[in-house]
Amino acid sequence: MPPEMLCGRALATCLDEIEKFHGFIAPGIVLGGFMVDWARELIDEKVEADAIVETQHCLPDAVQLFSPCTVGNGWMKILDWDKFALSFYDRKNLTGYRVWLDLHKARSFPNLYDWYMRLVPKKSLPIANILDDILTAQRSVLCSCAITITRFYERQKKGEIRVCPSCSEAYAASQGTLCFDCQGKGYFHETPEQPDCQLFHAVVG
Ligand code: ZN
Repeated sequence: MPPEMLCGRALATCLDEIEKFHGFIAPGIVLGGFMVDWARELIDEKVEADAIVETQHCLPDAVQLFSPCTVGNGWMKILDWDKFALSFYDRKNLTGYRVWLDLHKARSFPNLYDWYMRLVPKKSLPIANILDDILTAQRSVLCSCAITITRFYERQKKGEIRVCPSCSEAYAASQGTLCFDCQGKGYFHETPEQPDCQLFHAVVG
């Protein structure tokens, strides 16, 4: 039986929010919802908690949707370790809880297991089947433990800002006397405007 509530909201509302935020009901975010729900219950909602997420895929969206921690406010750090795990911790005393997907437990839910381990091609494993497994499994495929944070707890502070003498944009002074872009360490070339392109837009737009 799917739960009625998840992260303090009706399940249907949660799924709706996931679809609006992510573009579709990604199984990883639904599973992540159960992880956030559990971790925040363990740590007590009154504690101002920061989050560390151990994969770039899906899980950060679950944290942003179902907790006050976002990349933009600096309360969530994302590690590119591809582990389906997250921690919430009290930013004052660095104690908290880690919740992770337990592969041994997940074996009891073949669709969930095959999806996560990428054992079956996407097109032969309908999302509805994966979601069924996740909503049935709920916390039973997860583990949790109490932790004390030893690294990655520093908040990224905004440093000194300087105006680049070459492009006149503001940038982090730590980059040097010119911004990275003007030092040739940028990531783009400007594309010259093409008259044909503008004409095309005028016709279509
Ligand atoms: Zn510059």
